[in-house]
Amino acid sequence: MRPRPEHAEGESGQRPRITVLAGPTAVGKGTVSRYVREHYPQVWLSVSATTRPPRRGEVEGEHYFFVAPDRFDELIAQDQMLEWAVVHGKNRYGTRRDTVQRALDEGQHVLLEIDLQGARQVRQAMPEATFVFLAPPNWDELVQRLVGRGTESAEEQRRRLETARMELAAEPEFDAVVVNDRVERAAEELVRIMGLDPEDHR
Ligand code: 5GP
Repeated sequence: MRPRPEHAEGESGQRPRITVLAGPTAVGKGTVSRYVREHYPQVWLSVSATTRPPRRGEVEGEHYFFVAPDRFDELIAQDQMLEWAVVHGKNRYGTRRDTVQRALDEGQHVLLEIDLQGARQVRQAMPEATFVFLAPPNWDELVQRLVGRGTESAEEQRRRLETARMELAAEPEFDAVVVNDRVERAAEELVRIMGLDPEDHR
């Protein structure tokens, strides 16, 4: 972990309770955050809204809130999005402000799994958050994971790899870098960065 000099603990002496996990496409952010949700119930994982249609097996309210573009427009107009972005030049994804605030008010440890553009917006809105970059062991591994997943068309894969190249360059903006060599290990490291005890899991 590489703490920023200004990234101090708050006046209460408590570490900030909101952590943003970002990183290039196909690095496994979804897998790591799902692992955290399943094994560390003390972490509250935000469920994003998206205009992307559900993939096979995806569940409304669990993987995403799937909303129509008109509804997404409405959420933005009503200033209900903490952050949002067009990801891979196509669909919109965003985090609801009220649900995150409610979880923070309840004293939960909040985890956002979002893209780089979103992470930058959260940095503006909540500079006290902890920003974690999930990195692939190397570039070839990232390509393998994207192609191997087989959920995207060749055109979509090309678009996502282009985005990934730019996203990898943003690593120095983050407070900490976690290499996703093994999901369980990466999740443990993330949880430790969040200020929680990785031994305290189910
Ligand atoms: P997928 O379509 O594979 O589920 O996700 C595509 C990308 O959208 C991932 O890089 C994921 O991190 C990002 N993403 C998911 N939810 C959000 C969100 O609420 N805000 C932003 N900015 N990006 C998101």
